[in-house]
Amino acid sequence: MELLKQRIAKEGIVLNNAVLKVDSFLNHQLDPQLMMQIGEEFAGRFKNEGITKVVTIESSGIAVALTTALFLKVPVVFARKKKSILMTDDVFHTQVFSYTKKESNDITISKKFLGSKEKILIVDDFLASGEAALGMAALVREAGSQVAGIGIVIEKSFQQGRQRLLDAGYRVESLVRIESFVNNQVVFL
Ligand code: 5GP
Repeated sequence: MELLKQRIAKEGIVLNNAVLKVDSFLNHQLDPQLMMQIGEEFAGRFKNEGITKVVTIESSGIAVALTTALFLKVPVVFARKKKSILMTDDVFHTQVFSYTKKESNDITISKKFLGSKEKILIVDDFLASGEAALGMAALVREAGSQVAGIGIVIEKSFQQGRQRLLDAGYRVESLVRIESFVNNQVVFL
């Protein structure tokens, strides 16, 4: 997605040749127009998959999941990283190691909002080691539903996430793929 590449090139900040900060439009401040374009792009790519629900993880996945679900005309549910005291329902849960926070989170989705026989589109802001996406996929499968695809806004292709998801049999659509960071500059694939 050319527009996204331009925004990353202009506004992205690379830390330690490892992590990309895109706080000005995706991870802190949000650009609603860009979020809509991303949602439209994901919806177009997965329009023939019979998606019944979009699943993401809080918090940075929520904006793109919402716009994607808007175009697909389906609901969206986000996995929580910390169990809320309001969450009294039965939940599906699994452990996910956070690449940026270097800690393990127990992620949960209420059983009320993740039924069986659904066709789920998983979306997230970044793909690095694949932990977050694989964790969400595990919840979907535990519910007895199918992962129809995984949509990623920014893929760091030099990490193993994409391959892990492909090996698990999932269709992966990334809007931007990064080959490497060199001297804290982004090199696109
Ligand atoms: P993974 O679970 O694939 O290792 O990492 C994906 C998750 O970690 C995403 O949900 C994202 O929040 C975070 N993440 C991984 N790499 C980056 C990065 O370079 N920049 C930002 N902003 N987040 C990242």
